Amino acid sequence: MIAMNDFKRDDEELVRQELSAVERVLRSGWWILGAEVGAFEAEWADWCGAKHAAGLANGMDALEIGLRALGIGPGDEVVTTPMTAFATVLSIFRTGASPVLADIDPDTGILSTESVKRCLSKATRAVMVVHLYGQAGPVEELAGICAKAGIHLVEDCAQAHGAKASGKPCGTWGAFAGWSFYPTKNLGTAGDGGALTTESAALDEKVRRIRNYGQSVRYQHPEIGMNSRLDELHAAILRERLKRLEPWTARRRAIAHSYADKIRHPKVRVLPLPADPARHVHHLFVVVSPVREALQAHLKASGVDSLFHYPIPAHHQPPCAGVRVDPKGLGAAEEHARTCLSLPIHPQMSDAEVAKVVEAVNTFKG
Ligand SMILES: *Cc1c(COP(=O)(O)O)cnc(C)c1O
Repeated sequence: MIAMNDFKRDDEELVRQELSAVERVLRSGWWILGAEVGAFEAEWADWCGAKHAAGLANGMDALEIGLRALGIGPGDEVVTTPMTAFATVLSIFRTGASPVLADIDPDTGILSTESVKRCLSKATRAVMVVHLYGQAGPVEELAGICAKAGIHLVEDCAQAHGAKASGKPCGTWGAFAGWSFYPTKNLGTAGDGGALTTESAALDEKVRRIRNYGQSVRYQHPEIGMNSRLDELHAAILRERLKRLEPWTARRRAIAHSYADKIRHPKVRVLPLPADPARHVHHLFVVVSPVREALQAHLKASGVDSLFHYPIPAHHQPPCAGVRVDPKGLGAAEEHARTCLSLPIHPQMSDAEVAKVVEAVNTFKG
């Protein structure tokens, strides 16, 4: 079976480097907020072209902590997309603010700027764009819309490590970016991890307090914080894996272009690739098909795994009962949720496996 992800296929050299990093941490006798986290934060900020990075426990916390650091909470609204990992929406609920759900652009699956404009109200404090599937969202327009409305643009970069919009890195367009290092992400660790990047030293400082019980100096807690620290062990593993992120991204891009060139089926539409390849880091490769369940069964019979991202849009999840949505409805998100299917695109895939996936799709008798 060609799996969606296959971590056991990491090369032996990388595994040895990770084991030695883990041993270094174990023998150091310092396991929380030490040299590895500090070094990873500096390397991560540098890699993604951000001024500051704070290591956190996971991607959802990064989004919640960022919103809280901006002072967003009860009575406030944050506009986002229903087509995302539920963690995006949950991060807004957890601050006490209300998510407002805008519709998507059917060609990308990403937040539609026209719909965002219809969702703004007096209570809106921020727009949270999700760079879905690894593709930069319309930050050029969203930055303008937010500036004009006097609200924050914030970025869910959990799928977009290294994507750039108009040459400017995703994560540097808004007040902050939340990153996830969950194992399946383009940069993942052997467990949970996350980070927040920002251009603001004041926001970075606030995030560092919130992640550590709201503590400013030892035993002083000027605000209500939480415990959301990145572990030294994960930071050490991430430092090794970060050295591979460039070639892994190149491999994902090559696979995506191969799929886009070769997949030909009347009932399968490949989401168009952006004219500027730097916009997309291909966390997922998504096609849409009116008969996607039959396609998935055929792929499975051909030895190819697939998933739907995401089959239930956020507004159909029980916690979202009663949330405000685009007054024109969420038709594009509904349609996408019914028809999307993700093909394997992990960087360990061989050319023969890529060819096998193409063949499996093209021979579908749907
Ligand atoms: C994975 C993901 C998250 C959550 O990250 P965790 O590290 O699992 O908490 C948030 N948003 C998006 C778009 C994601 O893909």
